[in-house]
Amino acid sequence: MDIIDFANIPCTSGALEYLRKSDIGLNDLCTQAAFESIRSTGKERILKALKDGAMKYRRFNKLAAEKELLAYSIARIIVSCINNNYLTKRYALAVARSSYEHIKDLKNAVLLKELAADLGISIRLDDIMNVSMHFTDYIRCAHVLHEPKWKLLNRTVKQGMLLISRDDLAHLMEEVVRQKVESGLPHEVPKDIQVALEPYIAEVMEIINTRASKQSFSREGFSEVIPDCFPPCISAAIADVQANVNLSHTIRFAITSFLLNIGMAPEKVTKIFRASPDFKEQATNYQISHINRASGTTYTCPACATMATNGNCPRTALCKKIENPLVYYRRKVWMENKKRVVQKQV
Ligand code: SF4
Repeated sequence: MDIIDFANIPCTSGALEYLRKSDIGLNDLCTQAAFESIRSTGKERILKALKDGAMKYRRFNKLAAEKELLAYSIARIIVSCINNNYLTKRYALAVARSSYEHIKDLKNAVLLKELAADLGISIRLDDIMNVSMHFTDYIRCAHVLHEPKWKLLNRTVKQGMLLISRDDLAHLMEEVVRQKVESGLPHEVPKDIQVALEPYIAEVMEIINTRASKQSFSREGFSEVIPDCFPPCISAAIADVQANVNLSHTIRFAITSFLLNIGMAPEKVTKIFRASPDFKEQATNYQISHINRASGTTYTCPACATMATNGNCPRTALCKKIENPLVYYRRKVWMENKKRVVQKQV
């Protein structure tokens, strides 16, 4: 891989190493007038990610690629300083989508293999660039992609290996990039760097606040239920939906059953999923009515142990002794109500 690849897929270990060896120190990058255009580019990339969920840039010459990679560092710092769940997810998604554009055009087998290995995927390529991979790698990458074509059942597995198209491989790598960028944010930022980047941070914050006040799916969208009392697993999953991130079947089931069980009307649950990248109204309504069984007995939300097994549990200190997300919610609502009664009495 070279600087052109690093700029277009900036979360690789090669890109990180390149930045580490760069002559330009982080302090200079964040403070010197000479690097103002790089700082602005970093901020612009975030604004583009917020607006479109994608960044349509490609870099093909060395100088522009170097600047782009440095701008990526700046963007990560700004995102880290703001530390907003929606922004982080939206930015990771946009980096992944632009990386996909680069990956799908790679024609060099050695390079493709090297890049896949960097992202933790072991692939084999034959002479005519047919791609095969181990089914466990496939499941790890594809489990959040829930169109029927991604189901393992719809793939041919021979001796543990399955054949996939180059474009499908690019999509799997896109998903890995998204997870990698997201899991690396926020990172620690020294105070003096935070101060130096304040104007850029303020500009991004303003857009986030404007968006939050205009957002149709907000507190009002929940009406009779109290989003502040949602457990971390459900809050994080709803933030994923809002940021346009693909969700696995298991977490979709969890959100839907959770919301129906706490009394949200089915049409409001549909509205929440409308932001999803592969939203299909008919299919969503069918799933919701299936969970909200005709008999009137709604499927209950999966227990915390099941959520953890499915990789859907970001357990926090607040989850102490909780065995089901519904219990978390009911306890929190009870505590909030109690607080209100006490406040009224004072
Ligand atoms: S412990 Fe339970 S309530 Fe808490 S995040 Fe995990 S699944 Fe959700």
